Amino acid sequence: MQTIFDPYERFLRLDRISSTTDLLRARAVYILGWAFIMTQCVNIILMTVSFGSWTYDHTVALMASIIVAIIINCLRFTNNFILFAGLFSGLLFVSISASALQESTGINSALLPMFVVGSLFNGFIGGWRMVVAFLVMSLVLIVGLHGVSARVAPTDAAAAAIYEARIFQRGAQASLAIIWTSVFSIFITLCINHIFERLEQAYTDIKKSELDKLEFLANLSHELRTPLNGVTGMTRLLSGTTQDATQKKYTNILDKCGKRLSHIVVDALMLSKMDSGDFELETASFNLKSQLEELADLYRTAATAKGLALEVDFAPQLPEYYMGDAKQLRQVFKNLIVNALKFTQSGSVNISVSGRLKGADSVHLKISVADTGIGIVPDNIDRIFKRFHQVEKGLERKHSGTGLGLAICRELVTQMGGEISVESRLNEGSRFDIELTMPVGWPPEAEQDKLMAAETLDTIVHAA
Ligand code: ADP
Repeated sequence: MQTIFDPYERFLRLDRISSTTDLLRARAVYILGWAFIMTQCVNIILMTVSFGSWTYDHTVALMASIIVAIIINCLRFTNNFILFAGLFSGLLFVSISASALQESTGINSALLPMFVVGSLFNGFIGGWRMVVAFLVMSLVLIVGLHGVSARVAPTDAAAAAIYEARIFQRGAQASLAIIWTSVFSIFITLCINHIFERLEQAYTDIKKSELDKLEFLANLSHELRTPLNGVTGMTRLLSGTTQDATQKKYTNILDKCGKRLSHIVVDALMLSKMDSGDFELETASFNLKSQLEELADLYRTAATAKGLALEVDFAPQLPEYYMGDAKQLRQVFKNLIVNALKFTQSGSVNISVSGRLKGADSVHLKISVADTGIGIVPDNIDRIFKRFHQVEKGLERKHSGTGLGLAICRELVTQMGGEISVESRLNEGSRFDIELTMPVGWPPEAEQDKLMAAETLDTIVHAA
């Protein structure tokens, strides 16, 4: 249901409202408004069927609908709910008066529901103060309408006395009804507001404790890094000393475990930084093509050792320079290439880049890392991007890894405004695709040329 309203709520810019109570109020403004307009549409159709032509009442219904449509669309510009409650109340008073003044009808019981509705929506949209204001205004209006009715009292004294008693009784009933509704409306409003305030407070507390935990984790991972560096460094020194076979075996195990632990700590630190919002992407011009080729060169020895081909296929028509966070993109490509090499026993790993121009100076890029490896079973495709998810479990594991690499890739690509997906066939291979729109960058020399041109221009302007 919400998906139907989503585009309209985006148009009304309700996403800028952070409090749940205010969001419900805004929704009440537009839902009540559109319900009124719908009713008027039905009214117009029924009137056309009954009268057979356009009448004064049609014009009034149309005008009222246009005014209400304008009022609700003002949510785009303000969320002053007192104002909305006031405008809706004003319209109600005008319509009550318009029907009551006509032929001096005065107080008439058909108008009572309008007072009741008014007091309820004032409570919901504007709060208890607006209900009190609406109550006072309604009582004044009822006294005024009593005066209007009194003006057309029968001339006969006996009939006039009965008439006076009747309109007094109607006025008193109307006043009592609106007083009771207002008390009820104030009670309900205060209860709802209280409940939402408590819910929001509880939500804020949970969020804060969550952030505290993330900060603790980030600090812990950071603190772990120093002693861990000591352990791995010392292990490396130890492996350079003269050792017997058993000592060598133990040092190797120590070295592997140390490296794995460092890997987990670095990845966990990265993810906890992202979660706590303590992570920002940088933007600078970099050469995407060279970056991918450098990475391929770096891992070619490992690939060749396994008998695998590792190639980069960069579409020649694409610009090579882009604006983005080269370091973090490198981290993403590195994770994908390492995985591809790890899970491929024969064949090749191919990195390809294609794209199309988007706007004047951006390119929608598709960067793929495809392998001819073991593939992934369909059931696991959605899970592999989850933290600590590895397809091979426990003792059956043949490949090393932390299970955090793809989770980091997804977080990074999402923060860059892109998407990462995978297509895979068991025993045939996998292809990871990154779709990302990036502004075109420029080579460092061009950047310098630009600066020099700007400086020259500046000098000319100042000299003139
Ligand atoms: P790990 O450090 O274990 O590689 P990742 O998050 O990078 O953690 O990957 C999660 C899991 O996804 C891997 O353990 C593996 O089962 C699966 N996976 C990732 N890349 C590939 C690939 N190219 N081919 C087959 N399986 C893969």
